[in-house]
Amino acid sequence: MIQKFIEENYEIVDFEDKADIYIINTCTVTNMSDKKSRQIIRRAKHKNKNAILVVVGCYAQVAKDKLEKIEEVDIVLGNNEKSNIVKCIEQYEKTLVTDVMQQKEFVEFGCTTYTDKTRAVIKVQDGCDRFCSYCIIPYARGRVRSRKIENIVEEISQIAANGIKEVVITGIHIASFGRDFKDGTSLIDLLEAINKIDGIERIRLGSLEPTIITEEFLARLTKLEKICDHFHLSLQSGCDETLKRMNRKYTTQEFEHIVNLLRNAYPEVALTTDIIVGFPGETEKEFKSTYNFLSKIKFMKMHIFKYSQRNGTKAAIMENQIDGNKKEERSNILIELSDKNEKEFMENYIGKEVPVLFEQIIGENIEGHTKNYITVKVPKNEAVDNEIKTVKINKFENLALIGEII
Ligand code: SF4
Repeated sequence: MIQKFIEENYEIVDFEDKADIYIINTCTVTNMSDKKSRQIIRRAKHKNKNAILVVVGCYAQVAKDKLEKIEEVDIVLGNNEKSNIVKCIEQYEKTLVTDVMQQKEFVEFGCTTYTDKTRAVIKVQDGCDRFCSYCIIPYARGRVRSRKIENIVEEISQIAANGIKEVVITGIHIASFGRDFKDGTSLIDLLEAINKIDGIERIRLGSLEPTIITEEFLARLTKLEKICDHFHLSLQSGCDETLKRMNRKYTTQEFEHIVNLLRNAYPEVALTTDIIVGFPGETEKEFKSTYNFLSKIKFMKMHIFKYSQRNGTKAAIMENQIDGNKKEERSNILIELSDKNEKEFMENYIGKEVPVLFEQIIGENIEGHTKNYITVKVPKNEAVDNEIKTVKINKFENLALIGEII
């Protein structure tokens, strides 16, 4: 959206400065996100009471009536309207939230959205048809819509020509890529096309629904030399009963099989995940199952979320909601396990030599990442910026590997 305004000669100022137009791009994933959006709306209008205040994004999509009643809000725009935001504001549309559930095709944004010189995040699809019981996203983002492969390839070719070496493939549910084309196209076809683009050296996958990983998928994936051996598989719970209540479509046994396939295919693979603790009805026994499963799988890193009720979802009205202190306690136990596994994974690299794509100078160091997304720091050296160099790892300190270029 910033890019769109710049193209139309608007000046972008910091949120802390006084602006004529404030765009609040909202999230609605939890009730807390809604509350934070409302707080920001008030803060923005307080800075300049004559400003035009525009609320856009997922909260606007699912709660336009509520937002219209907030005195400070001038314009409410849904997710479909984002790509046309400048026009919507210039025409001063009071509320324009078209039904995202009826949107059948991916809306091209019409501009490249990367800001980094090394890595670009490429959105390849929108929407989700999964309806996990705790999640509002399918209502805010609509059904699966995939972007045409030729448009994605064109965008990536262009950014590769500008020196970007790594792309991160993202979307709301990238495992569903191509399903709406109904011609058999899937994510692997897209990855094969991107792998052919000159100048791109690394392809990183964003959060991935585990069930996409099959032997057939891996047989094709492992032929693509640019794919990074870092996979974020969203597990959410290590207990089958909890997974069922969450309406997740796999069992822990299937998940473990997928992990084994990945570890066989990529010996250095870094596996990360998201876990929700304190899901409604999660008993001590269920939590213990999750703990035991996670201890067995040994993810490189886990993002632990305390379950948060989201109005409008099935889980929000489930019985046996878990008390906040219990969630906190369970969350701390899993964070401790995650830290232990991460340390073990990282320390394994001490004494090894690894290729690192260097990205930015921070203080006295230049930092980059390995293919499996470990942060590596070496003493400042501008000559290696945006280059891949081999580093000998000397130690693990402050969540990063420290080494020297050889
Ligand atoms: S797959 Fe992800 S986006 Fe889709 S409903 Fe489940 S949690 Fe939400």
